Amino acid sequence: MANNLKTYLKDPLLLDMYQQIRKVGAIKSISLDLTHRCNIRCVGCYYFEEGMDTFQSPKDDILFDAFLDSEIERGTNFITIVGGEPSLEINRIRKIYDRFYLSVATNGIRKIPYKGLEHLPIGVAVWGNPETDKQLRGNGKIDVFSKALANYKDDPRAFWYYTVAPGHSYEIAGVVERCVANGNRVLFNYYSDLSGLGNEYDYRLGFDMVRAEIDNMIRQYPGMIFMTPYFNKIISTGRLFDMKWGYEVCTNISTNLPLNEDRMNNGNPFNPHFRAYHADFKTTRRCCTGSDRDCASCFDTWEHFSWIMVHLRQHLSSKEDFSNWLTTMYLFYTINRLIDPDIGMNLLHNTLYTSDRQLA
Ligand code: SF4
Ligand code: SF4
Repeated sequence: MANNLKTYLKDPLLLDMYQQIRKVGAIKSISLDLTHRCNIRCVGCYYFEEGMDTFQSPKDDILFDAFLDSEIERGTNFITIVGGEPSLEINRIRKIYDRFYLSVATNGIRKIPYKGLEHLPIGVAVWGNPETDKQLRGNGKIDVFSKALANYKDDPRAFWYYTVAPGHSYEIAGVVERCVANGNRVLFNYYSDLSGLGNEYDYRLGFDMVRAEIDNMIRQYPGMIFMTPYFNKIISTGRLFDMKWGYEVCTNISTNLPLNEDRMNNGNPFNPHFRAYHADFKTTRRCCTGSDRDCASCFDTWEHFSWIMVHLRQHLSSKEDFSNWLTTMYLFYTINRLIDPDIGMNLLHNTLYTSDRQLA
């Protein structure tokens, strides 16, 4: 297998990607709810659906600072900041920014300041076209999408984290057009319908039409879509080689919790460093996106990155498999600005689409 790797890395584009990743080094990540508060209530938000806001963030910074110290000591070098709405706690974002690699998810209503946070990767949520987004995130009244477009116009830090419902593939082209015209790239996510809206929102409909439309967007907007066809396929089908996505294979579970012990002992790889911290900066839960939820509803993009990343060995049987693994890794590093996104997206595009390739 090591020989296979050497052979594949004779390809200069793959070697370039591989070396850039090696230069940054390994990621030891956690997820952190920066606050239990939010300025809106989205329909189907995992955070409030499972009452995670009962773990409240202390006002005093002493506990927060001590938490960051202890994570540095533990070896953490990457924090995914979620919540709650992180833009309500700018000073705490700054403290993390100064000491860790990081990524922030926001609803976009309040702009995260530029000064002093110039290289912050910001995933700005959108859940559909203005009508759908207003229904799902703005309680039928607030146009969250338009506010966020204005806040992040031509902001190189921002990319859209576009969550699409299974029956809403027809909205994708229009939403992407607006995001790209706003000067931002787009990453996709897949709606889980945790509040049970049913019909076109029901994840059990499957994401075939959404997947096809995302692939169209990748072709139509070279360098602007933070997805590859392979990654799109793995998330939307929940299949990786002979594995089926779910708790038994999920890699981002809190490894300090006894409730995850059976999972950690079942022989499937996992991320040994990972913990999902509540907003009390002390306790952890089963995984980033759930305490008790049914994993069948989970199409979370970030978790699927990790699923692919820990399976290098399974991707060494052919150059195509290896390229699929490496481009997924490289995409993760690029989205999170561990690699310059302009350089990263250019190399990714050349690797996927130069004439003798077509790897997906
Ligand atoms: S903005 Fe985020 S945390 Fe707030 S309700 Fe919506 S999904 Fe949940
Ligand atoms: S909800 Fe998703 S991330 Fe959480 S344990 Fe289940 S499969 Fe993993």
